[in-house]
Amino acid sequence: MDSNLAPCGLLSLNTSGNVMFMNATLSRWLGLSDDQMAGQPFVNLLTTPSRIFYLGHILPLLQQTGHTEENYLSFKHAKTGDIPVLVNACKATQNGQDIFVMAVVTMQRRHIVEEQLLLAKQRAEEAMNEREKAYEALEETKQELEEKQQLLTQINARLEALSTKDPLTGLNNRRVYERELETRLLAIKRDRMPFSVLVLDLDFFKNVNDKFGHDKGDLVLQELARLLTEELREIDVLVRMGGEEFVVVLPNTPQTHALDVAERIRARVAQHAFVTGTLTLSVGVAEATEKDTKASLYERADRALYRAKQLGRNRIEFVAA
Ligand code: GH3
Ligand code: MG
Ligand code: MG
Repeated sequence: MDSNLAPCGLLSLNTSGNVMFMNATLSRWLGLSDDQMAGQPFVNLLTTPSRIFYLGHILPLLQQTGHTEENYLSFKHAKTGDIPVLVNACKATQNGQDIFVMAVVTMQRRHIVEEQLLLAKQRAEEAMNEREKAYEALEETKQELEEKQQLLTQINARLEALSTKDPLTGLNNRRVYERELETRLLAIKRDRMPFSVLVLDLDFFKNVNDKFGHDKGDLVLQELARLLTEELREIDVLVRMGGEEFVVVLPNTPQTHALDVAERIRARVAQHAFVTGTLTLSVGVAEATEKDTKASLYERADRALYRAKQLGRNRIEFVAA
C-alpha cells in the first residue's frame, strides 16, 4: 500500500533526529512540499513547548527504550496556526541502520472540544462567582432593610409616645382622653358598663404664677400630676387637658364612687404642701349614660366644675344627666 494514502502522518528520522522521510499526508497538514524537510531537524517543525518535550522526553526515551506512545505535540503552521497531534514512535532498523519511525494523528477536533469545555467551565465558574456576589449583595440589602425596619419601629414608638404624652407632666394628653371616651361610650352601649368623668381645676392658679413665677407654677403642676397618679387606680385614665385643668376617666365607676374618689383627691391636694405653699382644687363630676356623646358628657362635667367654682371652690359638684 502507498503510505501517502494513509489517514495519518508517517515520518522517519535518523538517530540524530533529522527527517529522512515524511509521507504526503503529513506534508499536506504542515503545508510543506514533498521532501522539503529531508535532512532537516525534526524539532524545527515543533512549537517551543513541544520542542522542549521532544528533546527532553521523547528522543531520550526512543534512544533508550526504542518506543514511546501517546505523546501530545504541536506542529507549527504559519497559516492555520498550531496543529495539535498525538505521536507514537518506535525504533526500527532499515538497511542495517537504526531509524525512528513516527505515526502522527491530528487532534484538532479533540483540541477544539477541550477548549470549548474549558471555556464552558470558566463561564460556569464566572456565573457561580457572580451568583455568589449577587447573593451576598442581597443578604446585605436584607440586613439593611431589617435595620431600617427596626429603626422605623423605634421612631414610631417614640412618635406614638410624643403624640400621646403631655411634655410637662408626662401624663396622657387630650388625644388619649378622646380615644378613651370613644372606647368607654361603645362599652357602655354594649355591656352597660358604668363610668364617670372628673374635671379638676386648680383654684386661683394664676396667683401662683403671678407671685412665684411661671417656673414654680410648672413645678406645682408636676407635683399635682404625681399626687393625682398616686390617688388613682391603674385602670383610671388621667389626662392633662391643658393649663391647670386635668380630667380623669373612671371605668366601672358609678356616680357615688366617683364622688368618693373626687373627695379623696380634693382632700389630699388641700393637705399637701406644694413648693409654693398650699393649694386647692375644684372638681366637676358626671356619670356617663348610654345616650351620651363625648361632647355631652364633658359639657355636664364642666358645668359641674363651674358650679363648684361659683359655690366657693375647694369643693365637688355633680350634674345629673
Ligand atoms: P380659677 O380658680 O377660676 O380656676 O382661677 P385660676 O387662676 O386658676 O384660673 P385662670 O383660668 O384665671 O388662670 C389659669 C392660669 O394657669 C393662667 C395661666 O397662667 C396658668 N397656666 C396655664 N398653663 C400653665 C402652665 O403650663 N404652666 C404654668 N406655670 N402656668 C400655666
Ligand atoms: Mg384654675
Ligand atoms: Mg382653668
